[in-house]
Amino acid sequence: MTKKRGVLYFTLSEMTPRVWITLTKCNFRCRGCFSPARDADGKIMDAEETLNRLNIACTEYYGFVPDEALITGGEPTISRGYLLNLIDGLKKSGFKKIILCTNGYELSESDYVEDLKLAGLIEAQLDIKCYDKKVHIWYTGKSNIPVLKAIKNLNNLKVDLIIQTVYIPEIVEKEEIKRISIFLSDINPDIKYRINPFEPKFSYERISRTPHEEELRESYEIAKSYLKNTILSMSCRREFAKNPKKGKWVTVYPDLSFERRGVEEYEHERISRLQPL
Ligand code: SF4
Repeated sequence: MTKKRGVLYFTLSEMTPRVWITLTKCNFRCRGCFSPARDADGKIMDAEETLNRLNIACTEYYGFVPDEALITGGEPTISRGYLLNLIDGLKKSGFKKIILCTNGYELSESDYVEDLKLAGLIEAQLDIKCYDKKVHIWYTGKSNIPVLKAIKNLNNLKVDLIIQTVYIPEIVEKEEIKRISIFLSDINPDIKYRINPFEPKFSYERISRTPHEEELRESYEIAKSYLKNTILSMSCRREFAKNPKKGKWVTVYPDLSFERRGVEEYEHERISRLQPL
């Protein structure tokens, strides 16, 4: 089991005490990927070193360890040993709500999910990129069968779930959203489901356009008829809803230098990693 992993940076919210740990590399090659971590190297370190640096950052910035930690990427699950040690260490450091953002591909084996739960995982935010198997392979390079199985495993083990799908015009539209909603409602009609709009300016490949509001609204209504906890969302909606005027985060790099950044700086980071087309 891989015990080391590339860490791109930590992000500390100014709005609500909450941290993100962004790990590098991914097992998918999504055409619409917008993550700066996918192809970055980061600083390679083990979980203990990651926790030491994160705890210093939290103590310096907040003066305490906040309740909530999100592990994101890239894809966190591709280094099982590192991830289990990291979650275990976060729990021992005092984090109460540990959230894993994942594509789910590695979680088709229930023993991995059991280990995550035992280590302290509370919630998983998992994407279903699309339900159609051929389109999924075209879009990500991998089958979605393990992803669908992972959702069943996580639900069976009572890990809280937020499932997300990006609405991509002409690729993932209302029919796909409907199939995903039916699949999820058969597992658990209380699952939280979030539909996000495709953002072409951040996408690795120019595969589509920004969806129209009516398209999103129509898909939302369809999903809502199967899953009552459906929302239409932008990624930072939860934070902005509480403190719309203070939209900043502190990015702490592995060498513990830091930068205060807002939405525009994060957008610039996403765009600047794209190759000119
Ligand atoms: S969108 Fe997520 S799962 Fe897909 S390639 Fe990017 S980091 Fe990986």
